[in-house]
Amino acid sequence: MIYFDETSADELDAIREQRRDVDLEMAAMTAVGDRMAELRRAGVCTHGSAQGYREDLGDPELRPGQVRCTDTCGRIFASDDDWYAAIDAALRD
Ligand SMILES: [Zn+2]
Repeated sequence: MIYFDETSADELDAIREQRRDVDLEMAAMTAVGDRMAELRRAGVCTHGSAQGYREDLGDPELRPGQVRCTDTCGRIFASDDDWYAAIDAALRD
C-alpha cells in the first residue's frame, strides 16, 4: 500500500526489506533444525516434543504442571519453562 507521502520506490524498498527479514528468519530456523538433526544423529535428545499432565493420560509419574519429554529420553520436567530451558541447553552444549 502506498500512502500519499510515499513513492513506489518507498514501497519497493519496504517489500525488499520484508523479504530480507523473512530470509534471515528462515536461515536462523534452518540452522536450529540442522543443529537438532546433528544432535539426534549423535544420540542426544533435544526434547523436541513433550506431553503435559492430563488426568486421563495414564502416566502415574506425571503431576499437574509437569511435562514429560516424548522425543526420546522420557525425562520429566517440573514445568514448561524447565522444558524450554532444557531444549536451549541441549542446543547450546
Ligand atoms: Zn528428551
